[in-house]
Amino acid sequence: MENCLFCRIVNREIPSSIVYEDDLILGFKDIEPQAPVHVLLIPKIHVSSLNDLGKEHGELIARLTSVIPQVAEKMGVKDSGYRVVVNCGEDGGQTVFHLHYHILGGRALENQFG
Ligand code: 5GP
Ligand code: ZN
Repeated sequence: MENCLFCRIVNREIPSSIVYEDDLILGFKDIEPQAPVHVLLIPKIHVSSLNDLGKEHGELIARLTSVIPQVAEKMGVKDSGYRVVVNCGEDGGQTVFHLHYHILGGRALENQFG
């Protein structure tokens, strides 16, 4: 989608530090990491938020989920532990409206839900 920051990252119009890629998914480092490991995992197709997922996205959702531990292993936090966060909508704190899973780890994270 034109003017979508993460679509532009998928299309290599904006540089990013890519840590995972397959035909459906891209994983790259967050530009403002909140932990030693902070990866964003996104679908390559434009989906604005969790609210826009439907039955037709079944394969994509399964892939996104199964890739999480692979990325955690690659980043060295699979055994120490990590957190997966999806912000949805304004009150959820979503600022980029292209669905993304935050994968955070590398330190003990606070028990906070805002
Ligand atoms: P949200 O608040 O929507 O859940 O998360 C958006 C995330 O995207 C933030 O953690 C922010 O740091 C990250 N981000 C924003 N712009 C860029 C960018 O240009 N490159 C990368 N790699 N991350 C970005
Ligand atoms: Zn997009």
